[in-house]
Amino acid sequence: MNSAIDSGNLGTAGNPLRVAIVGSGPSGFYAAEALFKSPLTVRVDMLERLPVPFGLVRYGVAPDHPKLKQPTLVFDKIAQSPGFTFLGNVTVGRDVSLEQLRTSHHAILFACGAESDRRLGLSNEDIAGSHTATEFVGWYNGHPDYRDRSFDLSQEVAVIIGQGNVAIDVARILAKPIDELRGTDMAEHALDALAASRVRDIHLIGRRGPAQTSFTFKELRELGDLAGCVTIVSGNDLQLNSACLSELEDKTNFNAAKNVEIFQSWTSHRAAAAGKRIWFHFLQSPVGIAGNGRLDRITFERNRLTGPAFAQLAQGTGEMVDLDCGLLFRSIGYRGLPLPGVPYDSSRGVFPSTAGRIDGIADLYAAGWIKRGPSGIIGTNRADAVATVQSLLADLPHLDARPKSGAEGLCASLARCNLRVLSYGDWRRIDAEEQRRGAIVGKPREKITQLSDMLAVAAHSHNRAQEGQMALP
Ligand SMILES: Cc1cc2nc3c(=O)[nH]c(=O)nc-3n(C[C@H](O)[C@H](O)[C@H](O)COP(=O)(O)OP(=O)(O)OC[C@H]3O[C@@H](n4cnc5c(N)ncnc54)[C@H](O)[C@@H]3O)c2cc1C
Repeated sequence: MNSAIDSGNLGTAGNPLRVAIVGSGPSGFYAAEALFKSPLTVRVDMLERLPVPFGLVRYGVAPDHPKLKQPTLVFDKIAQSPGFTFLGNVTVGRDVSLEQLRTSHHAILFACGAESDRRLGLSNEDIAGSHTATEFVGWYNGHPDYRDRSFDLSQEVAVIIGQGNVAIDVARILAKPIDELRGTDMAEHALDALAASRVRDIHLIGRRGPAQTSFTFKELRELGDLAGCVTIVSGNDLQLNSACLSELEDKTNFNAAKNVEIFQSWTSHRAAAAGKRIWFHFLQSPVGIAGNGRLDRITFERNRLTGPAFAQLAQGTGEMVDLDCGLLFRSIGYRGLPLPGVPYDSSRGVFPSTAGRIDGIADLYAAGWIKRGPSGIIGTNRADAVATVQSLLADLPHLDARPKSGAEGLCASLARCNLRVLSYGDWRRIDAEEQRRGAIVGKPREKITQLSDMLAVAAHSHNRAQEGQMALP
């Protein structure tokens, strides 16, 4: 990636380049991979707030899409690179400060994702029955932060606001026959609750038109193939203005054209008396959430599109429609969280950066969703992380070249605070235990969803292995 750079002896065996990566999702692992591919001697210490790695690949990607989790096999290989250390159960900004990291490492690369949600900005947004998609996704995927959430699945009508792939995941999980979910790694508590679900009508609502949805067409098409479920689109909603038509004619807008084609094929579908129904509504923005202590109605304003092709905006018409419902999932985008000492753009929810260099502070870098916002697929984070690492390596002559203590120094100070830091070996023990528990019930894994249980499994297996009673995986 770069020719030899003389920055003292930084990046040599005598003085390895020590980089702290904050977050163990795709962008963190791809950044580690790019660093190890450089000709320098590099040590990567990956700090992760959870005891287990892989970010949204473990806790976002839907359980019924196991193939999409395969990048974890690549991440696992990256974790075997000499010079890689995983420090799980360590929250940067709480257990370790930015200043500590700057003392122990030559550079810090933030890959901490976008863990909070955009808000609608309506009163009653948090009324009982109204949730973010993040909560629901985290709950069914067994994320420790969300495992204790509950959703009133005795309701028959659910509304999902937002028209991207996460909204599709939520709709599909609500609509899919429970027997098709049982063999997945969905958390047991979610399987039990979904088995008793009475949700029947699922409304997916977007503020712009069918030509502007963010669904990828394969995910959209899959909804039409669900057993016992019909997808419904009104033909009136597919009357497109001339700007939409020219958008669809653009060859680079192939995905949108496919989406509209799929919607068109669904206009002949009629609501069946039995089974579940997924309704698509376009050009509507929520303006009111009502209920006496719990959600029972959402009011939407109808929109029209104004402006030229590819820059059309949804403008309210003043016409209102009410939708009675008992369950709402808000899926309108993600935002990164601020971290003490790190510049933060509160309008976009990212760490502002130029070519991956965080604006205003030398030796801080960003990759993935915290850098560019929530966009793209898992693979998008690879090129993104590579670009950031290129900037970091180009900056080598300007980094503080004095030898740094890296993970060793950090772990010593964390041990003084009695924090149990989990290694990649600990994760492998948890992984093996999850797979063992899963095999008993016919699942690829039974996720351990409680932090204390993860720590206990790691400690217990570790002790047994040390006593020679158990071979490590
Ligand atoms: C619901 C959902 C489903 C998706 N499904 C797909 C799919 O099917 N296919 C696909 O290609 N893409 C999918 N994506 C997109 C994909 O998951 C993202 O592109 C990718 O995960 C972003 O990677 P990241 O590393 O930037 O962030 P993340 O994956 O979010 O990783 C960030 C990591 O940082 C950790 N962290 C955060 N703060 C701290 C801190 N202070 N200290 C230490 N650690 C911290 C987090 O715990 C997390 O592990 C999905 C996204 C969502 C939300």
